[in-house]
Amino acid sequence: MKSAVLTGPRMIELREVPDPVAPADGVVLEMRACGVCGSDLRRWQEGPPAGTPYLVQGHELAGVVVEVGRQVTQFHSGDRLAIAPDIHCGACCYCRRGLFNLCTNLRLLGITPGLDGGFAERVLLTGDLLRNGIAHRMPEGLSFPEGGFAETLSSVLASHHQCQTSLGETVVVMGAGPVGCLHVVVAKARGARVVVAEPKPIRRRASERFAPDAIIDVTQQDVVAEVSRLTAGLGADVVICANPVAATQTQAVEMARRAGRIVLFGGLPKTSPMASLNANLIHYGELRLMGAFSYHPSFHEEALRTLARKVVKAEQFITHTRPLSQAAEAFQIAASGDALKVMVEPD
Ligand SMILES: [Zn+2]
Ligand SMILES: [Zn+2]
Repeated sequence: MKSAVLTGPRMIELREVPDPVAPADGVVLEMRACGVCGSDLRRWQEGPPAGTPYLVQGHELAGVVVEVGRQVTQFHSGDRLAIAPDIHCGACCYCRRGLFNLCTNLRLLGITPGLDGGFAERVLLTGDLLRNGIAHRMPEGLSFPEGGFAETLSSVLASHHQCQTSLGETVVVMGAGPVGCLHVVVAKARGARVVVAEPKPIRRRASERFAPDAIIDVTQQDVVAEVSRLTAGLGADVVICANPVAATQTQAVEMARRAGRIVLFGGLPKTSPMASLNANLIHYGELRLMGAFSYHPSFHEEALRTLARKVVKAEQFITHTRPLSQAAEAFQIAASGDALKVMVEPD
């Protein structure tokens, strides 16, 4: 079969590799759609981790089961599945509390070396993944690209569940990349008024199709003052930092109302993870600062249902599609910043 292999920084090679074979407790999935994620892009820029000669990326995956191990009873040949990357251990103290995304032994399909992901014609879903990973049957009528896109949506749904975005609140989304735009749609679906803040003109334009209530050009406007003006001096109920920029976290604390919630959704670069926050605003204002990373597997099911009901329309996000043989180009497009979501499909 053909596999798009990451061999070095920004180097993807299409290789002919042996077909995966289903072990007794696993299945083989034929890839039908696999999205390029922001985390894929960061890894692509750096190349495989030290000591790893190559990596097959891709974790926003949907496809059809084509081979089933003899011990597998829950899936059958022909099943249409959507897959997300997390495989928890089931034994650590977090897993025992049901906090699977915080598992200390978390392994990730298409990210952890040795667990080849979706940028290939076929993908091995091991027994481990079927037991402790995220593999769900797709609802009737859902397309494969929608199935792949469910992964991106899952973490956004989980973070709004955590911060309890609700009717009549003002939510500020810092950053209008694909994930920022998803926050706009989900916050609106939960009944909030949504303000987007973004420096890049192309991204501000892209965010317009999701009809936020206001768009702030942070290169021209003081975002803290503007949020204050839009909320009659009160401040935002919820601020979501959906970008990797520490300065926006500083501003988030300054624009939240008392008892407001701030969600640190985007990680900062590993080489400079520090942010400067006004601790007195947090203290006297009883602000609640929350991290958001990955999600409980149930949010992947909820994402599939949300997409099937068209509450979130995947086709508004999937701006580019490339065949597997052009996976290298798919990454170039995703890195250019012109795209929202780039999908890879079979040739
Ligand atoms: Zn992803
Ligand atoms: Zn665990």
